[in-house]
Amino acid sequence: MIELSACVGLGANLGDTRAVLSAAYAQLQQLPGTCRHRCSPWFCSAPVDAGGPDYLNAVACFDTTLSPQALLEALQAIEHGHGRERPYRNAPRTLDLDLLLYGQQQIETPTLTVPHPRMHERAFVLLPLAALLPDAVIPGRGPVSTLMASVAGQSVWRAD
Ligand code: AMP
Repeated sequence: MIELSACVGLGANLGDTRAVLSAAYAQLQQLPGTCRHRCSPWFCSAPVDAGGPDYLNAVACFDTTLSPQALLEALQAIEHGHGRERPYRNAPRTLDLDLLLYGQQQIETPTLTVPHPRMHERAFVLLPLAALLPDAVIPGRGPVSTLMASVAGQSVWRAD
């Protein structure tokens, strides 16, 4: 089975965000068909296009034999386990898990777009990703190190 490196964005802005992110990363580490997990430092960010409390964000990477669709479904199951609801677009959320990268593949299906279509313009994704994988390249967008310049004005800071 082919093993590829996947990157997942984690975000939370409701409840005990540190506990939620820790639990979610532990659940990612327990996913079958995954290994060599690593997690970025944690960052805080102001909500984009929405109100509500600041977010806690991180990026996790691991090698996996799961298909992109199976991985998406596993991420959604973890989200749902944390009581996530989607009452309206950009609503505050207990846990948001996005499939950011799946190797260097570009995927477009009715349920999945990889690389995640907005990751290249979000500092709360690029900063943790760059901290974890400084040489990462987003297929179709370019090196993370270059993309960081265009998000320099966004409000993102290292969590204590
Ligand atoms: P959100 O409410 O922002 O978590 O978006 C979830 C929806 O986005 C789901 O219906 C997914 O099928 C879809 N989606 C498309 N591409 C991705 C991706 N790369 N990661 C996570 N969800 C995705």
